Amino acid sequence: MPRDVLSYDVLVIGSGLAGLRAALQAEIASNGKARVAVISKLQVMRSHSVAAEGGTSAVLRPEEGDSIELYMWDTIKGGDFLSDQDAVERYCRLMTSEVLFLDHLGLPWERRPDGRIDQRPFGGQSFPRACYAGDKIGFFEMHTLYDNLLRFDNVDFFEEHFVTSLLIRDKTFYGVTAIDMKTGDLRVFLGKAGIIATGGAGQIYKFTTNARTLTGDGYAIAYRAGIPLEDMEFVQFHPTGLVPSGVLITEAARGEGAILLNNKGERFMARYAPNMMELAPRDIVSRAMMTEILEGRGFKDEESGMEYILEDMRHIGRDRILRKLNNIRELALRYNKIDIIEQPIPVRPAQHFMMGGVRADIDGKVLYADGTWVKGLWGAGEAANVGVHGANRLGSNGTGVCLVWGRLTGEQAAKYALEHQNDSISVPEDQVEKEEKRIYDGLLHGRGGGENHYKIREELRETMDKYVGIFRDEKGLTIALKKIKELKERFKEIYIEDKSLAYNTDLIMAMETQNMLDVAEVIATGALARKESRGAHYRTDYPKRDDQNFLKHTLAVMGPDGSPQLEYVPVKIVYWLPVERKY
Ligand SMILES: Cc1cc2nc3c(=O)[nH]c(=O)nc-3n(C[C@H](O)[C@H](O)[C@H](O)COP(=O)(O)OP(=O)(O)OC[C@H]3O[C@@H](n4cnc5c(N)ncnc54)[C@H](O)[C@@H]3O)c2cc1C
Repeated sequence: MPRDVLSYDVLVIGSGLAGLRAALQAEIASNGKARVAVISKLQVMRSHSVAAEGGTSAVLRPEEGDSIELYMWDTIKGGDFLSDQDAVERYCRLMTSEVLFLDHLGLPWERRPDGRIDQRPFGGQSFPRACYAGDKIGFFEMHTLYDNLLRFDNVDFFEEHFVTSLLIRDKTFYGVTAIDMKTGDLRVFLGKAGIIATGGAGQIYKFTTNARTLTGDGYAIAYRAGIPLEDMEFVQFHPTGLVPSGVLITEAARGEGAILLNNKGERFMARYAPNMMELAPRDIVSRAMMTEILEGRGFKDEESGMEYILEDMRHIGRDRILRKLNNIRELALRYNKIDIIEQPIPVRPAQHFMMGGVRADIDGKVLYADGTWVKGLWGAGEAANVGVHGANRLGSNGTGVCLVWGRLTGEQAAKYALEHQNDSISVPEDQVEKEEKRIYDGLLHGRGGGENHYKIREELRETMDKYVGIFRDEKGLTIALKKIKELKERFKEIYIEDKSLAYNTDLIMAMETQNMLDVAEVIATGALARKESRGAHYRTDYPKRDDQNFLKHTLAVMGPDGSPQLEYVPVKIVYWLPVERKY
């Protein structure tokens, strides 16, 4: 079958913050010589990064008491000592110049009266260091990068292209296969270098702040190519998802002074984190809220049956709310018909972020389990685990890691690609044919046994919410794993009703669900094996952190039977030994 083959120097997979920052740096570092393709299953500005609300942290004010060391300490302690401390150092040092870089590109940061960039408090950060633009930071960061990228002739955007596999031979990256969603055709992209920037997987949970499109494709595609996923059991639950929709109420609200109340009118955080109160790290606040709810001190939404806590912002005052929290005011008005200026809103913890990801080193190079590099392949953003977030990410560090590793990987990928410009690469026919068969013969035209893949997705999400959430134990995780394996079996029997090729969302969603199943299995398997509590991973049957046995990263590699096999690698401890976390 004749097919479309496109060749580039650098393939950036994903057009979120990480992908756009990488593409821009590839252009800058190569003086416009590298030909870059940005491939995205969405239109660029529909990537989830656009939804980031609260801010991006950096050290800007050493003269007022902030320092790189303090930022590193906050991040490492916040991550419950599972962070690679060398990666944290690089991150904290490079963030200052990232904020200034965006400033020079034109990002409208909120400013102080003296004209300098303003910073607001965020959870677990012991200095106000989140730079912001109202409560729409992601929108402004994405627009700034996208606007600037449009100046380059050498960057091509392939929107609505669904990447289905990585092409790798002799441990070297060659390209990807992708369905052009407009026509339904499979296209082959050849590239000297590739960057995985496909974001997270929040949709495997039902109550999530994440966009419908975050289905863990990048994780699953890498995992199926023999690349390990690292620390996937660490799933972040953001304390304040609006009930019942799950829409995010930014932590910046608490940064500006919002308080959390139980049904007795108590600011219960005083019992859990007496110093930092509502601005303790997310894992701690989320557990506190769930404890209040489970012990009967929550409220109940009669319509959805969901229990919740109240978040009160009235005392922040109309003027400040309109200037600094206008977006969440609009969201609460639209979704709950509540004006936060006048009334508290119902919130409860919602899945928000994946600390884990495709295994990558401090440079963002994607590594196999034995530590060798998948030549020519990098990872950035929420898709990759470069070691910064550890067991719990601090708010306002997510966007930052996209920027820093976007920059680092874009630069390396462009240089590498130009050095290898004369290497000839040809289409690995066998792999492409296998992929064609899998998608068109297997999924699209397969006879199937009549299983409904939408139902499989829903059952998966319910299972993850119920058994692989904030509180976990052996019994629940075992039930979850059994259910996921059953769903994987049932998936083999799915039937795709829509047989057309143009914009076949039935097919695309089925492929996403398949990816979600693999990612969920890795999470539950890692969680079951980690018999301790650390950061966002809390085992009620092992409530203590166990540094003796578990101060190590989990690697999950797909075994011959298609299920994960676990290995462990040490954490890079360079500066601080673990101590008890108190806030
Ligand atoms: C509501 C919300 C608010 C947040 N607020 C903040 C905040 O204030 N501060 C902060 O630091 N962090 C925040 N975060 C976290 C942070 O925004 C994200 O972690 C970060 O933006 C992720 O960016 P990314 O580039 O890795 O991925 P994304 O922006 O999610 O982009 C993923 C890209 O990959 C593409 N893609 C995925 N699969 C495929 C495929 N199969 N084929 C082709 N393309 C594919 C998509 O089309 C998309 O372009 C927030 C997150 C959410 C959900």
